[in-house]
This record gives sequence, structure tokens and C-alpha cells, in this order.
Amino acid sequence: MKQHLRVIIVGGGLSGLTLAYLLSKEGISATILEASSRLGGRIQTLKGKNDTPLELGATWFSDIHQKLISILEELGLKKYPQYARGKSLFQTKSFEPPQEFYIPETAYPSYRIVGGTARLIDALRDRINPQQIHLDTRVVSVNDKGDEVMVETQNGMEFRAHNVVLCLPPQLVGSRIRFSPELPDDVSKLLPTVQTWMAGSIKFVLEYARPFWREKGYSGMLYSHSGIITEMYDHTNFEENKFGFTGFLNGGSSSYGKETRKQLVLKQLNELLGKESSHPLIYSEKVWVDEFILDGNQVVSRPHQNNGHPTLQRNYLNGKLYFSGTESVPEYSGYMEGAIISAKKACHEILEDK
Ligand SMILES: Cc1cc2nc3c(=O)[nH]c(=O)nc-3n(C[C@H](O)[C@H](O)[C@H](O)COP(=O)(O)OP(=O)(O)OC[C@H]3O[C@@H](n4cnc5c(N)ncnc54)[C@H](O)[C@@H]3O)c2cc1C
Repeated sequence: MKQHLRVIIVGGGLSGLTLAYLLSKEGISATILEASSRLGGRIQTLKGKNDTPLELGATWFSDIHQKLISILEELGLKKYPQYARGKSLFQTKSFEPPQEFYIPETAYPSYRIVGGTARLIDALRDRINPQQIHLDTRVVSVNDKGDEVMVETQNGMEFRAHNVVLCLPPQLVGSRIRFSPELPDDVSKLLPTVQTWMAGSIKFVLEYARPFWREKGYSGMLYSHSGIITEMYDHTNFEENKFGFTGFLNGGSSSYGKETRKQLVLKQLNELLGKESSHPLIYSEKVWVDEFILDGNQVVSRPHQNNGHPTLQRNYLNGKLYFSGTESVPEYSGYMEGAIISAKKACHEILEDK
């Protein structure tokens, strides 16, 4: 019976794709409606000139992220520890030399996915019927039609299903999707106040021909209170034949243009790691404020505010509408682990309700 169930998943990020994969294992083919022209949402891996996987979005996880680790294993993907050997730097003041420190080898490691985080997105996509994935398809309304729900998209398409699962930040649900009948007042009031993890952050990547910092005994890890780079890490691939850095820029630098940010990044690295840093193969960056993450909503600065709120645990439209996505769950919300947990929870609830 459940094989005849039709499910619409709004959002083709990690939670939406994981949910589609889990449902497909139960013989249920779900339709994914994704507003942008790519899958992955807050997971976005660029390839450098030398094909180095460069993460503009999610990158790290650890042993506590057991659901993520088990899905990686199930999909045949491998993890490897973040490189941290050698001198790391901490810049407290612009007029003092940086402090040097060492990360103990025995500390709990952070991992990365071999080949880049997008491998996870690709592996999930490859296990979903491609005809069920619709890109450039922004959902604008969700309408209760009795036994079914009718979903309308910005490009004038209509989809019908027994269940709709919202796999996107609650802030975007609140500002972009109309509901008929309207969602209860407490839900509508809550949505704009749910923090969207990492919205407003600026991530940069650099690719280099050689790991010159490793050759000088540096780990590539940098924390700074005084430069445009606030955090930076070695971004060498698993095979150790492609090199680079990734990290975060000071949020205030969003008021500069990309070229100014690039020059400030290279100046800071030149001073700290030497002149070789001035000639990257690639500098790229992403200011995470676009219509697919923030869309004009306010950045909620309190970390994880209202993430996993009880209101997001309930279903609506007489059991036909569910909230999912990393911000919807109380455990590990904001992180990839939270996205997987939310997908498992939605899958379980959909199957249980039938
Ligand atoms: C810079 C950055 C660094 C990060 N680093 C880490 C990290 O190191 N470790 C970690 O665990 N996590 C990290 N994260 C968080 C991680 O990326 C997220 O937890 C996870 O990817 C969220 O997945 P999701 O599917 O819940 O949401 P999203 O990835 O946001 O997916 C939502 C999807 O919905 C789509 N969408 C939006 N509106 C509509 C609409 N109206 N109709 C249809 N589709 C719509 C969007 O385009 C998007 O594809 C980071 C995030 C960022 C931005």
C-alpha cells in the first residue's frame, strides 16, 4: 500500500536528498522540487585548476556524528582526518606577532569526505530516479485539497501528493511559501525567528600548486582576531597531491567587493606564511546570503535560536505536511548530522502514519 504513496520533498539539499533515498529504499518514489539550478544547498564543492576539491560550504564532522558516518559507509564513501601537523597560528592583535601553538595528534579528529563533500550529494542523487528531481523549481504555495496536497511552483507548475515535506530553512518557509489554509499563528510567528545556520557567513578557498606552508613546518591552521581571515585550515586532498586552504572571513567584510577581500586575504597570508602565498592558482569565495539560504530575511545572530522547536516537530494539514531540514531537529541542528537525523525522522513518521 505504501508503495502508492506520493511524497513531495521541497528542497534538494542534504536532508531532502537523504529523505528521497530513504523513501526509495521503502519502494516510495518521492518528487524533489529544488529552487536553484543545482542540488546540495549548503554543500557546494568547487573544483580548482588542478581539480582540487574546494569546499565553499559544509566540510567537517567528527566521531559524534554517527548518523552521518553510517550513511557515508552505506554509500561507500570514505573519510579522512583534517591535517593539523606543525605550527598553527593565533593572531590576537595586528601589531604583535602571531602566537604559535600545536594541536595534539591525539585530540578528537575532525574529518573530511574523500573527494569532497559533494560526493555525498552525488552518491544520494545517483540512487534517486532522475525523473523525480526538478531543478529551477521554486515552491511558492502549498494547498490542502482534502486527501492530497497541491503544490504550486514559481514557474507555474502544479504537483499533487499525499505528503509534503519541507526540507529547507524555516525562515525561507516563512517568507517564500504561502499556505492554504494558513499555518497556525504560532507557527507563522516562529518561522522568521529560527536561526538558519551559517547564513551570512563568508567562506573562501585558495588552491596552490605546492604545499609551501607544510614545507615550512606550518599546519595551515590560523585563527585571527585582527585580519580579514578569522579561521583557516589546510585543504589538501586525501591523496596529498592537490593543495589549498579554506576558511572563513570576517562577516564585516561583506561590505567590500570580492577583489578587495581577495587582496586582504593574500596580504594577511603573505605576512604570516610568506610570499609564496601571493600566487594562488585560484581564489574563490561565497557570501552565504543568496535567495536559496537567506532571501532577504534577517540574519538571526543567536546560534541555533529556536532550532528543533517543538512547533517544528508537529505535522500540519491533517498529517499531510511535515517540517524537516537540519534546523527542524533538536539534535545537531545546523549541521550535516542534523540534516540526516531530520530525514530519518521524516521518513519514519511518513511510514508510521500510513
Ligand atoms: C559556509 C558553511 C559551512 C558549513 N560547514 C559545515 C561543516 O563543516 N560541518 C557541518 O556538519 N555542517 C556545516 N554546514 C551546515 C550544513 O551545510 C547544513 O547543515 C546542511 O547542508 C543543511 O542541509 P539541509 O538540506 O537541511 O538544508 P539546505 O542545504 O539549506 O537545503 C535546502 C534546499 O532548499 C532549496 N530551497 C530554498 N527555497 C526553496 C523553495 N521555495 N522551493 C524549493 N527549494 C527551495 C535550497 O536551494 C536548498 O538547496 C555549513 C554550512 C555553510 C553554509
